[in-house]
Amino acid sequence: MSNQKSVYNFNAGPSALPREVLEKAQSELVDFKESGMSIMEMSHRSATYEQVHNQAIERLRSLFAIPENYEVLFLQGGASLQFAMVPMNFLAEGKKASYIMSGAWSDKALKEAKTIGEVYEAASTKDVNYNRVPSSEEITFEETDAYVHITSNNTIFGTQFHDFPSTGNVPLIADMSSDILSRPIDVSKFGMIYAGAQKNLGPSGVTVAIIRKDLLDHANSGIPAILKYSTHSSSNSLYNTPPSFGIYMLGEVLGWMQQQGGLEKIAKRNEEKANLIYDVIDNSNGFYTGHAEKGSRSLMNITFRVADEELEKQFLQEAKEAGFVGLNGHRSVGGCRASAYNAVPVEACQALQKFMLDFQEKCK
Ligand SMILES: *Cc1c(COP(=O)(O)O)cnc(C)c1O
Repeated sequence: MSNQKSVYNFNAGPSALPREVLEKAQSELVDFKESGMSIMEMSHRSATYEQVHNQAIERLRSLFAIPENYEVLFLQGGASLQFAMVPMNFLAEGKKASYIMSGAWSDKALKEAKTIGEVYEAASTKDVNYNRVPSSEEITFEETDAYVHITSNNTIFGTQFHDFPSTGNVPLIADMSSDILSRPIDVSKFGMIYAGAQKNLGPSGVTVAIIRKDLLDHANSGIPAILKYSTHSSSNSLYNTPPSFGIYMLGEVLGWMQQQGGLEKIAKRNEEKANLIYDVIDNSNGFYTGHAEKGSRSLMNITFRVADEELEKQFLQEAKEAGFVGLNGHRSVGGCRASAYNAVPVEACQALQKFMLDFQEKCK
C-alpha cells in the first residue's frame, strides 16, 4: 500500500473508512482466522461467522449505550428501505404519522410514507432552503400519532439537530444515517433509530436498526415477512443471508471506535475537525459563506459557497488537483461540501483549512 495515491477523502457517502480497519481486513481477507477461507466464503450459520455477527452487535450496544429493551438489527436495502418499512410496520390504519422536514432525505421519507398511510408535516424549514433545522417550539404533533419522524443530520444541506424534541408517549423515530455514533446520544429518547452504514459505520449494504422492543409487539402484522421487523428480531438478523462481509467490516469499524476511546472522544474530535473549516468560513470576510445557520451547523457535512461562481469552479478544480476528493456539493444544492465523518483524520481537515486559506489569500 506504500505507493498508494494519497488523497484527502471528503466523500459524502460511501465515505472514508479508518485506514487501520482496511489494512486489518486486507490481512484477514484470504484466510480468516486460519479457517482456510475468506469470511465472505463462509456459511452465515457457521460458528465463526456467528461470532463475528454477535460481536458487531455487542460492540454497537456497548459504544452507543443501547438499553436492554432495544433490539439491534442488521438489515439491507439502505436507509431508503427504512423509509418504507417504518410506516409499513408502525403506521396503523386510522393513525397518522408526523414528519419533521429538514431536508432532502426527510422529503423522501415523507413521500414514501404517503404511499403507505396518512402522514403530515410536523414542521418544515423548506421556505429557507433548509438552512436550519426546525426548533422544538415549531414542531407540532398529536398525542395520538403513530410516531414522529426526524432526520438527525441533513447530509445534503449540512444541518444537524443538536437537541431532539421531546415527544412524550409518541415514539420518536430517527434517520441517523449520516451522524450515527458521531456523538453520544440518549437512545432511550427514541422509539427507533436507523442508519445506512456507508457514512459513519462501514461499507454500504448494511443498515442498522435499533428498535424499542414494545413497539415490535404492536407492529402491523399484515405485511410480507421479509419487511417485518419482528421477523428479523426473532432470528437475530439471520432470517436470510445477511450481508456478512459488510457486517464484519462494521464490527471492525466499531472496534476501531472503541480503540479511539469511545463516543465522547470521537465527538470532541469531530467538533475540532469541523471547527477548523467553519473558522475559515467565519473569518473570510464573506469570501466563503456557509449554507447553514450557525445554530444548526452539522459537524459531519460542512456546506459552503465561494464568493462567485467562477472562483468556485476554480476552487473545486484546484482542490481536486491538490488531492481533495468529494468537495462538490450535492447536485441538488451545488456549492461545496466537506464531509468529515468519524474516519476522516484531523490531518485531512487541517490540510483543507490550509488549502482554503491559501486559496483565499491568492484570489482576494
Ligand atoms: C445517505 C442517506 C440516506 C440514503 O441512504 P441509502 O443507504 O442510500 O438508502 C438516507 N438518509 C440520510 C440522512 C442519508 O444521509
